[in-house]
Amino acid sequence: MTNISDLKNMLLEEKVRLTNELSMVGHKNPEIEGDWEPSAPDLNNPTADVNDVADSIEAFEGNSAIEVELEARLLEVDTALARIEAGTYGICRICGAKIEDARLHANPAAPTCIAHREG
Ligand SMILES: [Zn+2]
Repeated sequence: MTNISDLKNMLLEEKVRLTNELSMVGHKNPEIEGDWEPSAPDLNNPTADVNDVADSIEAFEGNSAIEVELEARLLEVDTALARIEAGTYGICRICGAKIEDARLHANPAAPTCIAHREG
């Protein structure tokens, strides 16, 4: 028996964690609700030498990759929370079958059943 309120709590906890992690590598896009942007390094620092700038750019590229991953996961979590509100949570979006309880407990944001998971 699926306990949706447990899964909802798991999703809400994950959302808090993802939001915290995102705020370390990026910031909210003020123009698009729910969108995040990687934080850019301060390249105008007058004391930075060429190596510092190269390090900053490297760090920015690392942040961007992490930011994209976290943002994608946050979107999945938000989508799952929206489906709980809409009453369509736990239904495979490919075949419409009920998603296995074990799968939801392993990944409460799973949008598909085991047969239709994408990797
Ligand atoms: Zn399916």
